Amino acid sequence: MLLYGTQEVNEKGHLTIGGVDSVDLVNTYGTPLIAYDIALFRERARAFKETFRAEGIQAQVAYASKAFSSIAIYEVAQQEGLSLDVVSGGELYTAVQAGFPRERIHFHGNNKSEAELEYAFAEKVGCIVVDNFSEIELIKRISAMRKQEMDVLIRVTPGVEAHTHNYITTGQEDSKFGFDLKNGQADEAFYRLHNVEYIRVLGMHCHIGSQIFETTAFRFAAEALMNKMIMWRDEYNFICRVLNLGGGFGIRYTEEDAPLAPAKYVEEMASVVLSMTRQHQYPMPEIWIEPGRSLVGDAGTTLYRLGSMKEVPEIRTYVAVDGGMSDNIRPALYGAEYTAVTANRMDEPQTTEVTIAGKCCESGDKLIEQALIARPQEDDIIATFCTGAYSYSMASNYNRLPRPAVVFVEDGMHQLVIRRETYEDITRLDIPLQAVKRGDTI
Ligand SMILES: *Cc1c(COP(=O)(O)O)cnc(C)c1O
Repeated sequence: MLLYGTQEVNEKGHLTIGGVDSVDLVNTYGTPLIAYDIALFRERARAFKETFRAEGIQAQVAYASKAFSSIAIYEVAQQEGLSLDVVSGGELYTAVQAGFPRERIHFHGNNKSEAELEYAFAEKVGCIVVDNFSEIELIKRISAMRKQEMDVLIRVTPGVEAHTHNYITTGQEDSKFGFDLKNGQADEAFYRLHNVEYIRVLGMHCHIGSQIFETTAFRFAAEALMNKMIMWRDEYNFICRVLNLGGGFGIRYTEEDAPLAPAKYVEEMASVVLSMTRQHQYPMPEIWIEPGRSLVGDAGTTLYRLGSMKEVPEIRTYVAVDGGMSDNIRPALYGAEYTAVTANRMDEPQTTEVTIAGKCCESGDKLIEQALIARPQEDDIIATFCTGAYSYSMASNYNRLPRPAVVFVEDGMHQLVIRRETYEDITRLDIPLQAVKRGDTI
């Protein structure tokens, strides 16, 4: 059985997180409940930052907050000296509500609207990561109209695509994000932004994938971007101050996953940049990274109440929990795998194989096909691990299920940070049919 961070088993045989009994948590807040181990989040953040410090490299570690966006997690990110990636007006608004320092907010997205860009200017975010030619025109227009300076990074696709266990290099990358590095688009983007009044090109950005377990792809990307930076220096006498190599660092969802330590990813990227800058006498840029999953993923645990059970003789036993694809769509969306335990009976053998199903009206709403838990009993508490990234942030009200509550635990304390939705919340935006007479126009 894999446990994460501060998780332990107490004398009652209950799973504890951050020194808090998970059974107490569900008795206090109900189920489904997502509990975040904040000490683990801090540990991960510090590991990234510390590695840069040890290498003597100027850096920003930006939390890619689409993984889990809330005011409270932005507050913790700020406490840890992280920067913040936002990808929409909504995430930016959340950051503003959290009082996050604007100069450390980086605004991403492949289709930022004019209103979103105006909002980013009004809030004076630290930089905008420019993704495409229409955005270049918008940013030029807005900055000129407002007579306001803006730092930008140019997002490029370096022709490397990384997946969980391997990576491929492609000549012309088929991606909806960014400017291609090889076909001249990246150069064209630079040309259109360089020496424009009010716009300052800080540097380059790439993000090559997610849940990546090896460093080759990162090394390749760093090299590809460095080569382009050197070309731009030689051609335009331009020096990139920032090299942003994105996120995508893998985490351990199941025993089969073998992620590297955060330090390892950073060291490998840094070694490429250090050696190429030395070789080409290029001023060492700041290195920025953008971990999302690897900061919050294994810090999150979802606690469900076990309800109905169904045995399909000689095939499987279904146990259903009081959530499902509405609070964690990843298994249904891309076959993501998780592990689970019976949190209220950790002292019993977790060896009964079951399929954990959700309560949504979809046959595909299964959280774990082959889970090993204690012999199931009604009202057990089932904990699924590693649900901190892309679960709550992708949650929906499918079947009009209220979205779960979220609680932070740390040092024996717990605090509700997102309250559970109510039925009133669910109908809050509904407008009942108006009495319209036949022939009336709307
Ligand atoms: C999603 C995303 C990240 C974070 O990816 P993880 O796999 O969660 O680390 C970083 N940068 C960009 C631009 C992203 O879109």
